[in-house]
Amino acid sequence: MANEIDLILRSPKAYEWARKAMDAMEANSVWPTAINFELWLHYVAAKDSEVAAEIDQIIRSGERFTEQMGDAIAVNHLPSAKLNGEILDAGKSLSAELDTVSRAIESARETSEAYGQQLASATEVLEEQDSEAVRNMVDTLSAATLKVREENQALQSQLADTTDELSRLREHLEQVRRDAMTDALTLLFNRKAFDEALEKACNEAAKTHGVVTLAIIDIDHFKVFNDTWGHQTGDQVIRYVASVIARVSEGTRVAARYGGEEFAIIFPGEDRHVAMAVVEKAREEISTRILKRRSTNEELGTVTISTGIAESVRGEQPVMLIERADGALYAAKRNGRNRTAIADKNAESKAA
Ligand code: C2E
Repeated sequence: MANEIDLILRSPKAYEWARKAMDAMEANSVWPTAINFELWLHYVAAKDSEVAAEIDQIIRSGERFTEQMGDAIAVNHLPSAKLNGEILDAGKSLSAELDTVSRAIESARETSEAYGQQLASATEVLEEQDSEAVRNMVDTLSAATLKVREENQALQSQLADTTDELSRLREHLEQVRRDAMTDALTLLFNRKAFDEALEKACNEAAKTHGVVTLAIIDIDHFKVFNDTWGHQTGDQVIRYVASVIARVSEGTRVAARYGGEEFAIIFPGEDRHVAMAVVEKAREEISTRILKRRSTNEELGTVTISTGIAESVRGEQPVMLIERADGALYAAKRNGRNRTAIADKNAESKAA
């Protein structure tokens, strides 16, 4: 089937099929990620495929097509996703394995320590007796106890080393997981982590009849800045804006690098007024800071940011919330930049 899809993507009708897939995704509020695109291309172009059948079943059930559902179908039917899935599974089972081994080692360590203590106290009691026979037995027992104690100590130190090694492995695994969620330049969450966090926040808001607010932030005229001062300085400006955004995104807020010079803050359970105050604080701070070229101390001037904010309406899905925040961002840009705009619930936007 993968070959059939490859052929379609290289045929004269490739764009037509791609458009159909995108239309179907939009109609079903599905994220336009690479995996989803591949799945929905099967859905429109390979109606007889197992992928299409599974998607059909989800649509008919009336359930929303979530990223987890897409991942599950991809892992079962798309060879590339299967590999990623297997890597993830391997990580998860290694972690579980480490937990089990750690617990077993800890329990063995406790048992051998207790045994050593019991032998030591038995020896003390026997040493208080007077008869020759008992003394001989005490000598034998003492020697045996000493040997067992020494062996126990060696075993304990071996177990302690193994436990340390397992902890190091677990930390390493955790670091790999963190890296996979982190943007290397800014150390904010990356796009993948953002997608997951927004999906989670929207589900939570729908479940609790609460809200989630999204701010999408863009550095104004960044391209000009980059062209004038070079990419390295451009990267530093991105890092600077990211550092301010990270600082204002305390508590449950999620700050992410959304794209090149675009950032996002998710405000779970917080409304547009809170988001507005937070973003305005960042905007003021950024627009008044005169940046310098680190190598020469030359003044680079200031940068400004524009932001679009959207507060979720009941049961709103991530893709729609992003679309409204994006619309508000464009309104902020249209109205002169260096400002924040809030999306109306009916998707019209007001610039502040
Ligand atoms: P960085 O260069 O790794 O600096 C990290 C932090 O160390 C900065 O956080 C700041 O608190 C401090 N720091 C480093 N160099 C200086 C300095 O020359 N003067 C002062 N007063 N503090 C310094 P901050 O300010 O949040 O900046 C985060 C990142 O943003 C920096 O990482 C750098 O990549 C970029 N950045 C910030 N300001 C400027 C600037 O004026 N020019 C350039 N080129 N980059 C800047």
